[in-house]
Amino acid sequence: MAVIEHDHLRTLHRLHRQKADLQSRIDSGPRQLVASTARVTTGEEKQAGLKDLLKKTQVLANEKQLLLKQREDKIHDFQAKLNAAKSNEEFQAFKNQIAADEQANEVLSDEIFEQLEKIDDINQEISDATESLKLANDLRNNIQAKIDKEAEGLKSEWTRVTAELTELEKKIPADIRMDYQRVASSRGEESLAPLDGDFCGNCFHKITTMQHSNLAANKPVFCKACGALIYLPENTRV
Ligand SMILES: [Zn+2]
Repeated sequence: MAVIEHDHLRTLHRLHRQKADLQSRIDSGPRQLVASTARVTTGEEKQAGLKDLLKKTQVLANEKQLLLKQREDKIHDFQAKLNAAKSNEEFQAFKNQIAADEQANEVLSDEIFEQLEKIDDINQEISDATESLKLANDLRNNIQAKIDKEAEGLKSEWTRVTAELTELEKKIPADIRMDYQRVASSRGEESLAPLDGDFCGNCFHKITTMQHSNLAANKPVFCKACGALIYLPENTRV
């Protein structure tokens, strides 16, 4: 029967945790970069959409203003003709025409006013979107700078820890190495667990009296629930 050293398993577990921590720090940079780049893209699209809307709204407002001007000119013409009218019918006809155009212009003026208000709102939205986009860009640049600064160090630390781990794994007794490797490759840092009272420190499954005695006798014990190789924490009496 294989003999294990709890001290060895403790160190092994510490290295597993370090490796997992380094891996998650290595992975988090690019993940954050993808997310922050997506925010920049969304911000750019929003800004472009608003600028497009502004242009269209301005064109519409200009058209309406031109139309208003044309109708006002027309009213002036009719006014002159009205003054020079030769008959009552003619006078009345021009008067009606002027009244109709004035009413139409009133509606048009309201519409122009609405368009101008809309332009103000869109301008405000563009200003907000520009500010958000700037923040998103700054954030992305910060993340990129952090990755540039830390990636190499993290990678070399990961390589060092992994090499140390591989070296220590060679000390695992041959007859349990396959069981260990199987759980290590699928569960990483959870392939080992300290005993926590009477429980697996990983999944809190209770260990048996027999497993307890085995641990005390430095015999390998795998958790029956999660498969972790269990060890005694430092200064534990069994
Ligand atoms: Zn367990």
